[in-house]
Amino acid sequence: MTNLQAELNQLEQKCLKRSLRVVTEASSARLTIDGKPLVNFSSNNYLGLARDPRVIEAVRQVLDHWGVGATSSRLISGSSIIHQDLEDALAAFLGRKAALLFPTGYMANLGLVTSLVGQGDAVILDRLCHASLIDAARLSGARLFVYRHGDAEDAEKVLKRTADYRRRLLITESLFSMNGDFAPLGALVDLARRYEAISMVDEAHAMGVWGEAGRGLSAPSPLMGEGWDGGVRPSTPHPSPPPQGGRGDWDVVVGTLSKALGSQGGFVAGSRELIDTLVNRARSFIYTTGLSPACVAAAQAALSIVQEDAAPRRHLQKLSDRLREELCMQGWDILHSESQIIPILLGDAKAALACAERLQQAGFFAPAIRPPTVHAGECRIRFSVTAEHTEKDIDDLLRVMSSRVLSKS
Ligand SMILES: *Cc1c(COP(=O)(O)O)cnc(C)c1O
Repeated sequence: MTNLQAELNQLEQKCLKRSLRVVTEASSARLTIDGKPLVNFSSNNYLGLARDPRVIEAVRQVLDHWGVGATSSRLISGSSIIHQDLEDALAAFLGRKAALLFPTGYMANLGLVTSLVGQGDAVILDRLCHASLIDAARLSGARLFVYRHGDAEDAEKVLKRTADYRRRLLITESLFSMNGDFAPLGALVDLARRYEAISMVDEAHAMGVWGEAGRGLSAPSPLMGEGWDGGVRPSTPHPSPPPQGGRGDWDVVVGTLSKALGSQGGFVAGSRELIDTLVNRARSFIYTTGLSPACVAAAQAALSIVQEDAAPRRHLQKLSDRLREELCMQGWDILHSESQIIPILLGDAKAALACAERLQQAGFFAPAIRPPTVHAGECRIRFSVTAEHTEKDIDDLLRVMSSRVLSKS
């Protein structure tokens, strides 16, 4: 145990130690830490659905009927009609044949990748892919290859180099969680097809927010033809078109219920064979208790709201466009953010921590992001804008960011 303490001390010296901050109160885009109310710019609750009264009411009703826990693995007796209804709704929403729920998005990635590839195979990832994708690739036993961030040409070089592997899985996020930029989805999915790799896209931060009707950036569009089996028809254009075209035809889509949908849990969507394969192979599905009925009900209600109401998405878009533009004009490096996720690149961990601390003193909560979440020297503050923020929240934040109290180096 003394070794553990020495290691913790070392982390502390390098400004890399993490600790839990206890939130004692949370409401619309606000939270209280150490007795101090702060405007929260750290949440993935992009549409405010985690505390939406319609979602909470839906959960109440399901709790009365189904109780709190799923009580066993889905393959034993923990698979209910509400699990199935949500899977059907997710598949229809995304224009896929089938979907499968997992307890978290992290576990969806673990189960999916380890079911599809193993020794003798290759996993090809964007350099900035989320830890769950890297862990999944490592656990699978396949060889891991990375290509330069957002660089389809480099991905093609890797595809050429890996021609001898038995099976190849090309993975990207659609909207990157730490940089807030989009992947070149059209180019990547074309490459996967051309080089006969399986294509997989993680839509964790895009679903509910981006794409026509919030379907994410990889949904076949428009969703009217084959495979479309009712549900709410697309009625609203998405707020402002992301830069890449030709985004459909991904073999596998992963998403989470715990960001824009405000609940908890993850899912995979794709072909019927894919889902049947996961039911038989994915250990993070088989050997764990089914998703809690409360989470299922919350996600189902949230999914309906997303399809019916485009206003929160538009408001979010408007606020984040403004914050990005004005931060740039103030001279901050926001990398290539194009979304509601807006990083401020600061360099070393100490600078990022100091900036987070000053923001907190000024009444804003936005975390310092440090290694191992990002590469050393790329520490940053990350602002996540949500539909619960107001124009005034953005004004106030911009005023603080423009003040000289915040050092820019
Ligand atoms: C957050 C995230 C996940 C994990 O989702 P959880 O449901 O929180 O486990 C997976 N992939 C990406 C890209 C994420 O950002």
